[in-house]
Amino acid sequence: MPAMPPELKPEISFEVREVGTVTSVREFIVKAADMPSVINGQIVEFDGGLRGMVMGFTEKDVQILILGPKARIRAGDKVYSSAKALQLPVGEAFRGRIVNALAEPVDGKGPVSAAEYYSVFRDAPSLMDRKSVERTLESGTRIVDAIMPLAKGQRQLIVGDRQTGKTTLAIDAILNQREQGVICIYCSIGKSYSSLMKIVDLFRERQVFDYGLIVSGTASTSVGEQYLAPYTACTLGEYFMYHGCDVLVVLDDLTRHAWVYRQISLLLDRAPGREAYPGDIFYTHSQLMERAAQLSDAYGGGSMTFLPIVETLQGDATGYIPTNLVSMTDGQIYFSSALFNRGMRPAIDVGLSVSRIGNRAQWPAMKEPSRSMRIDYVQYKELLQMTQLRTTELSKEAERKLRHGQVIAELLVQDKYSPVPMEHQVVDLYALNREMLDALSPAEIRRFKIDFYAKIGEWFPNLSKILRENKVLVDEAIANLEESMMYYSQQG
Ligand code: ATP
Ligand code: MG
Repeated sequence: MPAMPPELKPEISFEVREVGTVTSVREFIVKAADMPSVINGQIVEFDGGLRGMVMGFTEKDVQILILGPKARIRAGDKVYSSAKALQLPVGEAFRGRIVNALAEPVDGKGPVSAAEYYSVFRDAPSLMDRKSVERTLESGTRIVDAIMPLAKGQRQLIVGDRQTGKTTLAIDAILNQREQGVICIYCSIGKSYSSLMKIVDLFRERQVFDYGLIVSGTASTSVGEQYLAPYTACTLGEYFMYHGCDVLVVLDDLTRHAWVYRQISLLLDRAPGREAYPGDIFYTHSQLMERAAQLSDAYGGGSMTFLPIVETLQGDATGYIPTNLVSMTDGQIYFSSALFNRGMRPAIDVGLSVSRIGNRAQWPAMKEPSRSMRIDYVQYKELLQMTQLRTTELSKEAERKLRHGQVIAELLVQDKYSPVPMEHQVVDLYALNREMLDALSPAEIRRFKIDFYAKIGEWFPNLSKILRENKVLVDEAIANLEESMMYYSQQG
């Protein structure tokens, strides 16, 4: 059992109960008087059990954000405090469940028993409690794993216009963790209830609830819950991380989170800053992002990877909220609506996407071949633009490059909800770099992407195990691959 970080030791609780009086209610913000000793982030309760969180102060009053369905709170009602910062139940039992932003189950499957209580606005692990990232987070999306690989403990922003495939990529990453022992948390923030239900159905169908859970802060929940949801997801994840597990948290999306925070701040009468967002929106998001970590061995070596999603308007990644998030994450995957409209799936713009630390953790067997693939692919894109401008005949070399580029583009096409295991990707990349695919037609390449790996499984049943264990192309693997390529081409 790893040592407990200091903040997680049981709190010495002191009971100060104050009874305040509601002085005014404005949408989801309540002002209350006679509560001199409450602190920011503290939880309070109204008559009838509805809870609220202290968000600020005026000269006389406490400002409280209502956490829960809009209830009939009126001036004169009582408010009770218990001098406790907001804590949430956490534990193993949350796996497989759907909870709201207060970690209360909303799936109709009865209560969840808490192993412990964690403070929802915990500080991120300190530098001393961390070590550098060293293990791949296998996203299962070819273009990501090859060109912008992810590492466990990393924060990778998914950025792009509406309806470009952002959520699909994150869901694919979750589907791909099935055999990987990674606990997955999907958190909906301000997205529609129906879009969440689609994800719930998919999770049920693919048995994601064996290793996953959902935090629901959909648009149909209160503003307070939408604000809290990402912190709740993070807090539930921290329990697993501090117990030595790897966790993947998808925050869908932080644009909406910024919107609700803006709404709250305006009602709290705080001076608006850029684009009317509150001045501390940067601080708020960066504090959240800091909580992703790869813990050191002394703390059990668990990790928490974040895939925050942010929406852009007309491809403009220079908006306030997207630039903030780009600067506080370890890279971004940029979805382009132009590529999406041209039919590319996934519509990821390779030129604008980067993973700043994931390369360190990439399988060596992927590293070399994907580097040359990236270069070839970028050259192909340039060449493609040039050939659209010019009509002169192409050199043999340019034609070969174009051909190879088309093959890469075809290889990187991937349907939704069908993540590709890393071993499979290694095999395909090997064949690509040996120029085995250059002679194939697009239809043949599509067939190859499924067939070749399946055939190898018959010819060399041990190969995928060898690849996963070594993560390097050992001699035996190369020999197997070479032979397989020969068989495959002989088959016709
Ligand atoms: P929103 O802005 O509404 O949240 P989004 O960027 O999250 O949208 P998705 O909902 O993931 O986008 O995808 C948009 C549409 O594109 C969906 O209908 C989805 O099924 C489809 N789609 C996304 N990726 C793929 C893919 N790789 N293959 C096939 N269809 C895809
Ligand atoms: Mg989405």
